[in-house]
Amino acid sequence: MEMQALDMPEFTPGTVWLVGAGPGDPGLLSLLGLHALRHADVIVYDALVDARVLKLARTGAVLEFAGKRGGKPGPSQRDISHRLVELARDGRRVLRLKGGDPFVFGRGGEEALALAGADIAFRIVPGVTSGIGGLAYAGIPVTHRDTNQSVTFVTGHGVTGDVPDGLDWEGIARGAPTIVFYMALKHLERIAGLLMKAGRSAHTPAAIVARASTPTQQVLETTLGDAARDCAAAGLEPPALFVVGEVVRLRAGLDWLGAAQGRALDADPLGIAGHDPAESA
Ligand code: SAH
Repeated sequence: MEMQALDMPEFTPGTVWLVGAGPGDPGLLSLLGLHALRHADVIVYDALVDARVLKLARTGAVLEFAGKRGGKPGPSQRDISHRLVELARDGRRVLRLKGGDPFVFGRGGEEALALAGADIAFRIVPGVTSGIGGLAYAGIPVTHRDTNQSVTFVTGHGVTGDVPDGLDWEGIARGAPTIVFYMALKHLERIAGLLMKAGRSAHTPAAIVARASTPTQQVLETTLGDAARDCAAAGLEPPALFVVGEVVRLRAGLDWLGAAQGRALDADPLGIAGHDPAESA
């Protein structure tokens, strides 16, 4: 089936599409995202958007970078929202392209509210968020029946750049067996310390996944207690996810990327096969 047959919505001049580009691998872009790239006049993109995704843009589309570069601060959120409004009022088809999903720690909501306030029509195109899809590329499922029935997503970075104020660490530590942190590398030691203080064991399996789903993806398996030290020793850098919980152990059986490179997989990574709970009861 050709894409035309999917009857994609028209990208109307003077509107803004807020699109999630996924964590890196261009194959994770949605068909609506590709449609937007093929029709946009201007693409305002963030630092986390993979260069291979931008290559899918229509010839002639104007690319505008709206992120931080070389440690220099990028344009403020207000400036970006203002720019989107300006471009739309100019009658362009404006694609606002963000890494992962636009509504997951991506300020997509803020930009969309600014558009609503300026009476500009917009569409949200969800993307594969790194905290789910990026971990899948490391062979770590965010939920698994034998380990967790819930998962918590946390940002390790507040508006001030510090660990966010007002987080209920006891609640986070106890709330869900799996905790996925975005933007956590800078404050890793503090975050791990707060979780342990709130009752999570230092032996809890943990992993750091850097540049997930890109050709330079790196995965470090560790424990909550050793995470900060191991991360520093390995020299891992952002963008990276920090995941805490028994699900990390499943990687021994689910690291499909590693398997493609010859890593042997363990079909029983939790060591529970053959243990019938009904029998031992
Ligand atoms: N909207 C994005 C998140 C933006 S916040 C999403 O849904 O994924 C930026 C943080 O996302 C980074 O600091 C990092 O923690 C995480 N991140 C985004 N892309 C990543 C990738 N390819 N690998 C690892 N972490 C990533």
